[in-house]
Amino acid sequence: MKKITIAIDGFSSCGKSTMAKDLAREIGYIYIDSGAMYRAVTLYSLQHNLIQGETIDTDGLKNQLKGIHISFKLNPETGRPDTYLNGVNVEADIRTMAVSSKVSLIAALDFVRQAMVMQQQEMGKAKGIVMDGRDIGTTVFPDAELKIFVTASPEIRAQRRYDELKGKGQEANFDDILENVKQRDYIDQHREVSPLRKADDALLLDNSHMTIAEQKRWLTEQFNKITAEQG
Ligand code: C5P
Repeated sequence: MKKITIAIDGFSSCGKSTMAKDLAREIGYIYIDSGAMYRAVTLYSLQHNLIQGETIDTDGLKNQLKGIHISFKLNPETGRPDTYLNGVNVEADIRTMAVSSKVSLIAALDFVRQAMVMQQQEMGKAKGIVMDGRDIGTTVFPDAELKIFVTASPEIRAQRRYDELKGKGQEANFDDILENVKQRDYIDQHREVSPLRKADDALLLDNSHMTIAEQKRWLTEQFNKITAEQG
C-alpha cells in the first residue's frame, strides 16, 4: 500500500502526541514529535545560559545552533521514541515546567523554525510518517494527505498535563499549568512565523469529551478512509 504523510496539529496538551504515536505504531509509520525538537533547543539554551528571564541571547543561539543535534531513538521499554540532545537522552528533562515556560519564546524565533522545519522535511521525505506539532499541515508538510487539527478546552488540557506530570512523580501545580497552557496558546497563535492555525484542508477534532480509545478509533477511521481513496 502506498505510504502517505500524516500531519497532526493543535493546541498544547490536547493529546496529539498520544494519538499520533499510537497510530504510527499501529500502521508501522515513523512518529516524530516536532514539539520535542523545540523543547530540546530550549533545554540547550537554558543549559548554556542563553535565556535570562524573558530575554534570549539570539546571537549566541544563532551561533551555536549548528552544534545542537536532535535525534530520536526507540525506547524498547515504552515502545516509544525518546528525544536525544547531542547524544544524551533528554526525554524527561524537556518535559519539565522550566522548559515548558520558555519553549514558546524559542519556537517563535525565525532562524530556529527554519532549522527545525528543514530537519523535519528531511525526516518525512520518504513518507510513511506521522508528525505532530503546530505548523505541520500548514508549513512543514502542506501537501500531507491526512491533516488533523486537535483542540480541547484549556482547563481539560491543563488537567491532562497535571495528571501526566503527577503520574511521572514530578512536581505539579494545576493553576501554574493552566496559566502556562493559556500563555503558550497565545504566543503560538500570535507569533509572526508559522502561527498555530488550522490548515484549510485539515479535519477538526475537539476531543474535550472523548476517551483515548474513542480518539484512536476516530483517527484510524480517517486513515483507512484516506488510504482507500488513494488506492
Ligand atoms: O507539542 P509541545 O507542547 O511539546 O510543543 C512545545 C512547544 O513547541 C509549543 O508550545 C510551541 O510553542 C512549540 N512548537 C512549535 N511548532 C511545532 C511544535 C511545537 O512552535 N511544530
